[in-house]
Amino acid sequence: MSRKPVEAEIGIIGGSGLYELSMLADARSVDVSTPFGPPSGPIVLGELAGRRVAFVSRHGAGHRLSPSEVPAAANIYALRQLGVAEAVAVSAVGSLRAELRPGDLVVQDQLVDLTRGIRRATFFEAGVVAHLPFADPYCARLRPLLVAAARRAQGATVHDSGTYVCIEGPQFSSRAESELYRSWGMDVIGMTAAPEAKLAREAGICLTGLALVTDYDCWRRDEEAVTASMVADTMRRNVVAAQAAIAEFLATAPPAQPCDCHDALDHALLSDLAGAGEGILARLGPIVEKVPR
Ligand SMILES: [Zn+2]
Repeated sequence: MSRKPVEAEIGIIGGSGLYELSMLADARSVDVSTPFGPPSGPIVLGELAGRRVAFVSRHGAGHRLSPSEVPAAANIYALRQLGVAEAVAVSAVGSLRAELRPGDLVVQDQLVDLTRGIRRATFFEAGVVAHLPFADPYCARLRPLLVAAARRAQGATVHDSGTYVCIEGPQFSSRAESELYRSWGMDVIGMTAAPEAKLAREAGICLTGLALVTDYDCWRRDEEAVTASMVADTMRRNVVAAQAAIAEFLATAPPAQPCDCHDALDHALLSDLAGAGEGILARLGPIVEKVPR
């Protein structure tokens, strides 16, 4: 199978509030189709500091897709198809810890997936089975680079680790749920990091997350229970900080390096690709093109 030309090296997935990357030069929108359906919307290709970037707004134009409706598989597939090897996934989160304040940025290092099976969580099916390592959901090479860039950008307090618990939503948690997640040691709560990170791992993309703290969820009795309008207010400030962090990251991160993430699939396939049908191989396309066979 011949490789398509690389249109972009770095992907940025924008979450609530981050619907565009205004700092991209020569920006143009492309419609990408995938065997897993259309992505959330057109992908914006552009450049910053000589790096070719692909931006996708996770919830689509006008924020029309609920977390359960976000076509994460199509988004990740589309980025891979464009040549993306590294990506930053930005998401709005609630804080489950007093020290993670609204307005802070968290470069999470762990993920607990409490989504409920509504979302496509794997590319592999129809006779092709893969069990990928996911002990460390985010790229160990990329994460410190993003932390350092976000700190240099000085847009907000930056926390260099944290566990993100991903719920199905779209409702926020009950107080009992919020307390339960705190008792488990979770740090931030959101609705979109999973299964997106799992799909990125399957696609061999180095992924790092950037969580923007908007509120204290509902566990703090002295705080008002979280509402969508409160989230929106802090989100506006967070988006400015996130854009500064991303701009600094793009301007300073070294060109894509070899990384274990790119080869994660090599020893994870239990099925022999040679025996898989042409249909499924064509469908998996860029996901399996690097796998030795
Ligand atoms: Zn990596």
